[in-house]
Amino acid sequence: MEKELEYFKGTAVYGQLRSVIAFYDSLRQDILPFETEFCISCPAACGRCCEHFLPDVTHLEALYLAFFMIEIQKRDISFLSDWNGRLSCPLFDSSSKRCTAYEARPLVCRLFNSAASLTKSGLSFRSCRMTTEPEKAHGISSDDLEGSKVRVPVMSHYGEMLDALQEDGKTELLDKAVTNEAMKLMLIKNIISMEDSGRAG
Ligand code: SF4
Ligand code: SF4
Repeated sequence: MEKELEYFKGTAVYGQLRSVIAFYDSLRQDILPFETEFCISCPAACGRCCEHFLPDVTHLEALYLAFFMIEIQKRDISFLSDWNGRLSCPLFDSSSKRCTAYEARPLVCRLFNSAASLTKSGLSFRSCRMTTEPEKAHGISSDDLEGSKVRVPVMSHYGEMLDALQEDGKTELLDKAVTNEAMKLMLIKNIISMEDSGRAG
């Protein structure tokens, strides 16, 4: 991925991609101890949450998805422009029951079943009903969370952190947002390519 990222060095998207990747990396470090401590995990090839859900994403999340699918996976993403807001995720593969862009999935997909909410009465965790060890995960109380030995990731905190990485917190449905960011990436690639040709000539 480094080589593909470095290609965009000197452009605005380079810093944006670096910031969202670093944010997701630190999020992963926060969530892992929590999941381990409270025995929270998803069964292999589940994906029930993706079948009837089309995420709303910020432009930064969409930019990373576009970059990952085009530059790393070398995918043709034209199927996204035909999606027309259908209420399931276009990145979900229903035969393998997997996310086809898991590495670059947006924040909501990283937090669902992996982070607590902050309510008026304190921390609260609602585990997914499909979770691997429901007898443990379903019984996590506010007291368990407050007395946790590890830091409890809180959904709204990460939303605020993501918003802080960009000028506006506007969101759009994933299919449209990724298509738009892909067009920007293509434009930037064309400009870089023209500049390279100019230098070579
Ligand atoms: S969050 Fe729930 S539905 Fe989604 S993959 Fe995990 S266990 Fe399955
Ligand atoms: S982006 Fe991936 S994890 Fe998120 S809803 Fe779509 S298929 Fe599921």
